[in-house]
Amino acid sequence: MPDGTVDVVVIGGGAAGLNGALMLARSRRSVVVIDSGTPRNAPADAMHGFIVLDGTPPLEILRRGREQVRRYGGHVVLGEVASAEPAAPSADGDLRFGIALTDGRQVTARRVLVATGLRDVLPEVPGLARHWGQGVVHCPYCHGWEVRDAPIGVLATGPASVHQALLFRQLTEDLVYFTRGTALDEDTRARCAARGIRTVDTPVREVTSDEDGGLAGVRLADGRFVARRVLAVATRMQARTEGLAGLRLPMEELPDGMGRRFASGPAGATEVPGVWVAGNATELTAQVGASAAAGALAGAHINALLVAADTDAALAAAARGEAPAS
Ligand SMILES: Cc1cc2nc3c(=O)[nH]c(=O)nc-3n(C[C@H](O)[C@H](O)[C@H](O)COP(=O)(O)OP(=O)(O)OC[C@H]3O[C@@H](n4cnc5c(N)ncnc54)[C@H](O)[C@@H]3O)c2cc1C
Repeated sequence: MPDGTVDVVVIGGGAAGLNGALMLARSRRSVVVIDSGTPRNAPADAMHGFIVLDGTPPLEILRRGREQVRRYGGHVVLGEVASAEPAAPSADGDLRFGIALTDGRQVTARRVLVATGLRDVLPEVPGLARHWGQGVVHCPYCHGWEVRDAPIGVLATGPASVHQALLFRQLTEDLVYFTRGTALDEDTRARCAARGIRTVDTPVREVTSDEDGGLAGVRLADGRFVARRVLAVATRMQARTEGLAGLRLPMEELPDGMGRRFASGPAGATEVPGVWVAGNATELTAQVGASAAAGALAGAHINALLVAADTDAALAAAARGEAPAS
């Protein structure tokens, strides 16, 4: 951890945080990325749908991203932020933030980029969680091609799950929609039936595994078993907020229980001066490409505002007759 005040601390070193840090480090900003090493897509074998990197294991992308940030002088620190809060400004009125890690290390920064991602909360179905990211998936663009033509089931979590079913129907003809007590009007049933999607209204008791630990299928409340190789399920997406309460960032609840995110404006600026947010922490549906792009945009915006602050400070120093700072 560098001594003194750094230009920017990035909290979270996934696609968003690392790309933000890359922009800042390449602009000769002193930047520290603090990352606890649990990116959202860690359970997946490979990342898909982002050109050039398609098929690369998620942890390999992070390894290369950290290396690239370090190549430009950026620091990437493995650790978990325990607290982050505004501190007393500098003598010339520039903002300051104090960030403490759970292991006791501390750093002071002029600006903060929050890129902590989100946590997927699965519906409470016995046996479901152990298959997350393998036999249990959420995103047709991330895993759909890999499970094409397989027997797939959609476990509904609300009326909007029909949309997920229609997307997965694009990938397989063998699709079962488990309504799980969610509303399904006659028109929607007819639309599903027209696409050959079978609907099951009997409640789901549990998800079962085969001898090798893979997903076997779904046991219904009446004892019937429906064999499935893959289950698709929408999660509730919760921005990760651990250690960030002191920043007092406003949050927003999205409709239909979809999730909770940090509110942000253009380029990830927030209502809290000096704090930006990027990636899944504020855009719950962003994939790796969109998260990286948001981080890059936030990094460039932070640099632009620091340039303005530095110029104001230089002007004030010049007015006092002081020599220009290096
Ligand atoms: C199973 C699965 C598979 C997926 N597959 C794909 C795919 O194939 N293609 C695709 O484009 N997208 C995929 N996604 C979506 C992808 O994971 C996200 O778009 C992406 O991870 C968002 O990047 P991020 O930087 O915002 O967050 P993350 O990648 O989640 O990174 C956030 C980082 O912040 C760290 N962090 C959080 N809190 C703290 C704290 N207090 N202190 C320090 N560090 C902290 C975490 O450890 C983590 O490393 C998948 C998602 C899942 C769940």
